[in-house]
Amino acid sequence: MELYNTLTQKKEPFVPHTPGQVKMYTCGPTVYHYAHIGNLRTYIMEDVLEKFLRYDGNQVDRVMNITDVGHLSSDADTGEDKMLAGARREHKTVLQIAQFYTDAFFKDCEKLNIRKPDTVVPATSRVADFIHMVEVLLEKGYAYEAGGNVYFDTSKLENYYVFGNQNSEDLAVGVRDSVEEDSNKRNKTDFVLWFTKSKFDDQELKWESPWGLGYPGWHIECSAISVKELGEYLDIHCGGIDNAFPHHTNEIAQSEAYLGHPWCKNWFHVLHLNDARGKMSKSKGGFLTVSLLEEKGYDPLVYRLFCLQSHYRKPLTFSFETLDNAAQAYQKLVQRIAALKADGDPDLEAAAPYQEKFKEALGNDLNTSLGLTVLYDVLKADLTDATKRYLVGDFDQVLSLGLLEAAAKGAKPAGKELSAEEAAEIEALIAKRAEARKNKDWATADAIRDQLAARHVVMKDTPNGVEWHVGP
Ligand SMILES: [Zn+2]
Repeated sequence: MELYNTLTQKKEPFVPHTPGQVKMYTCGPTVYHYAHIGNLRTYIMEDVLEKFLRYDGNQVDRVMNITDVGHLSSDADTGEDKMLAGARREHKTVLQIAQFYTDAFFKDCEKLNIRKPDTVVPATSRVADFIHMVEVLLEKGYAYEAGGNVYFDTSKLENYYVFGNQNSEDLAVGVRDSVEEDSNKRNKTDFVLWFTKSKFDDQELKWESPWGLGYPGWHIECSAISVKELGEYLDIHCGGIDNAFPHHTNEIAQSEAYLGHPWCKNWFHVLHLNDARGKMSKSKGGFLTVSLLEEKGYDPLVYRLFCLQSHYRKPLTFSFETLDNAAQAYQKLVQRIAALKADGDPDLEAAAPYQEKFKEALGNDLNTSLGLTVLYDVLKADLTDATKRYLVGDFDQVLSLGLLEAAAKGAKPAGKELSAEEAAEIEALIAKRAEARKNKDWATADAIRDQLAARHVVMKDTPNGVEWHVGP
């Protein structure tokens, strides 16, 4: 397949170090709060990538870390410790917080049909490996001790990689903005490998190290876990675009200095999810979670479809209106599949060209929306029902929209099961909402929209007014 590589800023043929065997690493969540649906967009697209690599005939070893220590709120070396803040907020210990939100994260993943990576490693379980890597970096002259901490010396590198369009000027600005003045650093871009001087008096988790009682920097965990679990040559490293700098930049610096050779060839970054307020972020509060979508009556797989409808390298804008469109598309898709007769054998010869088209679409930098188009083409095509069902199941190994399962459960045909009374109630609510919107009474309009969502009503604004149906 061809994939865009953020490191070279080009679409390139994806060739694993050992053909047919892909070593894939994913930066996992920082488990101090629920994941918001913007974070989950990244994990959905990484899941599609993993499943497509398998579909395309590769064996995939995938590793994910769980950041349960030492991740500071600025993503650089400063700011508040997120884990500590979470523990304070909820009057729990850091480890209780970590366990609770790790479980919550994987529950969300399950609802979104995101496969759990084969190997999931909490950072706190690997502190000895981090210490070893820091020791080697010190021995090799890539690190120095200052003011009680150990720093990586970026000036020792031939190339301090920068992703995207960041030039050295942007980089300097980025570093300035995100890092409080730390007079221990020899170079602006240097970063902490091991802290012994915690700014946080009540830092709970500390370990003995050759440099004193302390805790690891954030970046070191991904380098150490990846090298140990996946070996010296990593084929693909994934993450959200926010991770590119400084996290991934610093991972490359550490890993290549430690190994003494190039480390990871391909870097896969998923763009943000925006909402009306801009980039979705936990710090803004009131962020959207999978549970919230469910409370509003959406099947989490509708959100998965919403993500697959766009390309992972474009920012995606979320609104309940666009999610409603995805809900409608999902319901229609399921209805069409439910209408296919279940008996008979598929015509594999007739199916093959569609499988080729599907591979071509996803194999072209993971073009999921084109992949969905191929699925629609199948449903429209002159193929037997058995062949169509076979192809739906085949593509869904990658798309994971639970299409055959949803069809088997029986899609509710639009409006059919509603009594005339219920339909009239819904019509009245929709009219009230339209009135409130006309009067710019957004609070009432939103409250009614929530009531409608709770009844699984999916609305669409058309030139002829609002069209609606009851979603799955
Ligand atoms: Zn990472």
